[in-house]
Amino acid sequence: MILKNCLSYPNNDIIDIKIKDGFVSDDSDDDIIIDVGKNMVIPSFSELHIHLDSAFILDEDLENKSGTLEEGISLWDKYKKEKLNPSELRGRVMKAIHLLENNGVTRIRTNVDVSDPTLTALKEMMRIKNEVKNVDLQITAFPQHGLFTCTDNSELLEKSLELGADNVGIAPHLEDTYEEGIKSIKTAYDLAEKYKKNIDGHIDETDDPESRFIELLAKERIKRNFKGSVSAGHLTAMHSYNNQYANRVIGLIARAGIDVISNPLINMHLQGRYDSYPRIRGVTRIREMLDHGVNVSIGQDCIMDPWYPLGSGDPLDALFMALHAEPLMTPDLLEHSLNMITYNAAMAFGAKNYGYSYGSQGDFIVTDAKNPVEIIQYRHSRKVIRKGFLIKGD
Ligand SMILES: [Zn+2]
Repeated sequence: MILKNCLSYPNNDIIDIKIKDGFVSDDSDDDIIIDVGKNMVIPSFSELHIHLDSAFILDEDLENKSGTLEEGISLWDKYKKEKLNPSELRGRVMKAIHLLENNGVTRIRTNVDVSDPTLTALKEMMRIKNEVKNVDLQITAFPQHGLFTCTDNSELLEKSLELGADNVGIAPHLEDTYEEGIKSIKTAYDLAEKYKKNIDGHIDETDDPESRFIELLAKERIKRNFKGSVSAGHLTAMHSYNNQYANRVIGLIARAGIDVISNPLINMHLQGRYDSYPRIRGVTRIREMLDHGVNVSIGQDCIMDPWYPLGSGDPLDALFMALHAEPLMTPDLLEHSLNMITYNAAMAFGAKNYGYSYGSQGDFIVTDAKNPVEIIQYRHSRKVIRKGFLIKGD
């Protein structure tokens, strides 16, 4: 495939993109030529934080009346006990993957709850991972109730890694005690070192400014000289930290090279639930972290589940919310905000060959936009190209 007259992002050069055998090349012997007429063609989106196992389970029995994280967790427990099985899970997961694909996502990192003794969801998700062609799928083994609230949870996490999960998940703020939160972070590093995995945590997803597990997550990486990647999802407590502490801990996050994933759709909905007015927004400090050079991405998190009744699977929706919540709409920040669902997200995913250069994977989104901001403003229909094949659009 040859894409002619592409406006590149962020350099704004007019280029031709030649894709051969799935990768960007110097030449292409294929005769599929698309002239995009100097519109923007951007490298595809990456979705770094989503829960495909709970997508689309929302129904009347699962209405989250308080709108809190806690009620969402208990509704999910009920669903797992009464309804979850491999075939219905597969149907929902494939529906969510197609939605993401059609929006231009070709890399997905999904959490899978591994607190079920049979590991039903994980085993089915591993099968799906091996079958899907249009996305690269990565699995984070996520202990929904923490590692030490139930006796079996840390064994189940380890078993999940043996079964092939890519990333070690944790949620230290959901442990019963502060000490167990600390222990969960150390256990995550021990397991990641033992099985040569990366770490992808739900960290400080609370409005409690005393929740400061991010500092240990960062420091431990430095101390151990841990070579894998470490992602911290949410960090909503940071919204409520005092400014001096926030500044110090953001410096530490930058030094440790932690990838941060903010999930503004769900956190605008779930946070601030214990406030009266004024009500906090509860989205992490994206702007301050970008200023410190932290690699920040934006995630979708949920699609129609007990934690979030909406969710279109479009990274532009999540970005749109982040732009408002922070806010991030200075001309410069707005123009470069797409980085958080393209380059930054691909880097956190560990995508080796990403972008326009020779050898990059041929995954692109063809838009009708004349500049990056128009992509967010107009949300024109998109053509999605995966390894040189058109998978959406004509
Ligand atoms: Zn999550």
